[in-house]
Amino acid sequence: MPSKELLEILRCPNCVREKTGLLTLHKDAWLVCAECGRKYPILDDIPVMLIDEGDKWVSTPVENLPVPPPEGK
Ligand SMILES: [Zn+2]
Repeated sequence: MPSKELLEILRCPNCVREKTGLLTLHKDAWLVCAECGRKYPILDDIPVMLIDEGDKWVSTPVENLPVPPPEGK
């Protein structure tokens, strides 16, 4: 999983402009934004912090997120 230090500084790129954009780690595979509900996959220990990627999962409940995340190809 990504380092704790990295996770502590990561914020949702959509929300951080106006709010805190705090992210919650889910099963070491996803970062979930509490404010907009976007979910960012962690692939090969690299969090994919793209708003477009987060958009794909915004309506997927956290418990339905695939683990490990699919590679976005
Ligand atoms: Zn957000």
